[in-house]
Amino acid sequence: MSYDDNNIFAKILRGDIPSFKVYEDDYTLAFMDIMPQADGHTLVIPKFKAETLLDIPADELIHTMTTVQKVMSALKSTLGVEGVVLMQLNGEAAGQTVPHLHFHLIPEHLRKLKGH
Ligand code: ADP
Repeated sequence: MSYDDNNIFAKILRGDIPSFKVYEDDYTLAFMDIMPQADGHTLVIPKFKAETLLDIPADELIHTMTTVQKVMSALKSTLGVEGVVLMQLNGEAAGQTVPHLHFHLIPEHLRKLKGH
């Protein structure tokens, strides 16, 4: 599996292109999705170079999931939403368009889709 250093999220991690950051630590970065599916749609990524969930070691994944928890908690408290969808696509065939592992946090997404 060859990681593409020129993918958009690699450029965001290097600071080559801007992003609206909401959280950062030594292992992870969280920033707002540029085409949000709902208000507050946030992406969490590891700094580790992994294309999909199958390419990251367990110890790195723990850091990423800990950040997912932190950001989800912050979304609930700051936006006052009751639910947050966690979505994660692996591979082009699954619809993944940016080849750097990322987790979508989408506030109240399914409730809006269902129209209530
Ligand atoms: P899809 O594009 O089908 O949602 P992904 O799971 O690969 O598949 O999602 C990539 C996400 O990255 C999209 O939600 C897209 O809006 C977002 N995105 C693309 N470029 C940027 C960027 N420069 N800054 C923030 N988010 C971005």
